[in-house]
Amino acid sequence: IPELRVPFIGGNWKMFKTISEAKAFAEVFREIPRNPGVRTAICAPFLDIPVLTEMFAGTDIGVGAENVHFEDEGAFTGEISLPMLKEAGVGYCVIGHSERRQYFNETDETVNRKLKKVLSESSITPILCVGENLKQREAGNEKSVVSGQIEKDFDGLTPEQAKKTVIAYEPIWAIGTGKTATPEQAEEMCGFIRETVKSIYGGAVSESVIIQYGGSVKPKNVKEIMAKPDIDGALVGGASLDPEQFAAILNYM
Ligand code: PGA
Repeated sequence: IPELRVPFIGGNWKMFKTISEAKAFAEVFREIPRNPGVRTAICAPFLDIPVLTEMFAGTDIGVGAENVHFEDEGAFTGEISLPMLKEAGVGYCVIGHSERRQYFNETDETVNRKLKKVLSESSITPILCVGENLKQREAGNEKSVVSGQIEKDFDGLTPEQAKKTVIAYEPIWAIGTGKTATPEQAEEMCGFIRETVKSIYGGAVSESVIIQYGGSVKPKNVKEIMAKPDIDGALVGGASLDPEQFAAILNYM
């Protein structure tokens, strides 16, 4: 019997919300009744993290970062390290988001180093993002792109570490475009990702790893997406910026 996969829906604020805007969100969001069967976390800009951890203390709302560097400290102007995140009390960290891969030179090699760092030196849960772009899908290469990312990003991780990693499948063509993958397309790829994890680590790991879908998830489409057997959660960008809208997504069932 596979271990129960608890639904996990995270918010990814990207480069939105000042400190006072984050505080205003938290004041509203923490008071909205939520389904206790759905785990949640807000991944936010670094500056917003202290106010969120303070405002969500004593609640079951997690706080995450959107990136981390793989060195502890050093001459890396503009970067934030794992010891800094640990002291700030974050529970999650997005790694390898497609926007970082596209605009900030994130590669499978740096993603792999970051994953190893977080998993071996903290109890922070990484949310690893993978996904193909439109050109790759139109060429019929989406599966080889995604399995290639999984293989390289997981390189050298132990089965225990792999099991702790949340995988977010985010087709680039569906991010912020209002164009969702159909639930069938999302399920097909999430099932394929689970098969890929199985081929590396075996069924015990692949049956317990949490796989999210991300890309234009909204209150109106979340239920259908979450109903799919290989989709255990969602990573929500635009619709996580409004507390009522994000809570409506979390309360999909
Ligand atoms: P979106 O972003 O929900 O705004 O499409 C998803 C993401 O990039 O994580």
